[in-house]
Amino acid sequence: MSSLPEASSVLAVCAHPDDESFGLGAALAAFAARGTPTAVLCLTHGAASALGTGHGDLHQIRAAELAAAAAELGVGDVELLDYPDGALAREPAELLSGHVQQAAARANAGLLLVFDEGGITGHPDHRQATRAASLFARRARLPVLAWAVEQRVAATLNLEFGTSFVGRAADQIDCSVELDRQRQLSAITCHASQAQDNPVLWRRLELQGNREVFRWLDRAGETGAHDWTRPARHRERDAQHGAVRAAPGRGPDRDRDHPERHDR
Ligand SMILES: [Zn+2]
Repeated sequence: MSSLPEASSVLAVCAHPDDESFGLGAALAAFAARGTPTAVLCLTHGAASALGTGHGDLHQIRAAELAAAAAELGVGDVELLDYPDGALAREPAELLSGHVQQAAARANAGLLLVFDEGGITGHPDHRQATRAASLFARRARLPVLAWAVEQRVAATLNLEFGTSFVGRAADQIDCSVELDRQRQLSAITCHASQAQDNPVLWRRLELQGNREVFRWLDRAGETGAHDWTRPARHRERDAQHGAVRAAPGRGPDRDRDHPERHDR
């Protein structure tokens, strides 16, 4: 697939303010540009960030940054919850999925947009947000499109920065598209407390160019037959390849304490 899928409306489910822009921004802007209503559910205020601590009360600042960034991306509705940043994985996925359900109902969502199951940076909060969205989607038989990064991008970042990015091989990617980053870049600048002094973010965007890649986690909407399970051929491929981690030996939780808590 070389274009974003059609959807009646899109709900993005994120862990932190800035995930919707740093990660999903190009896709959200593209959906909005084609007239697809978009909404964002963000589960934490991102107050545990090691970045931007000199800016004042991060809890308030990051809420304001999210609102401004969402406006840049053309996002119609933003819900910001107050689950603990850095400890989302301790919250039951079932509980979190209830919030996804409410947000999806409010947005009349036909598609959920999330971070890849590996959390992109490996951050446990990202993985838990995706887990919660997938839980609800299975019940509701909604398709889930996961934003991913290519293996080459993850490998380069991990080599250069010692990060724990989880990339995907070409045969694990379902959708590869060229997207305009103009609105995303405007949204990123709204997250001033996180975007400055963030070399990993800027290097990632440089490596990606205008290309974004995605994976289907659930495919109900694509077939129209409520066949939300991942097709067998995909499951076999996933079993063969697993999540591609370019920095062997680094645990997925390393992101908690490494210096690049940004781009998370
Ligand atoms: Zn994040």
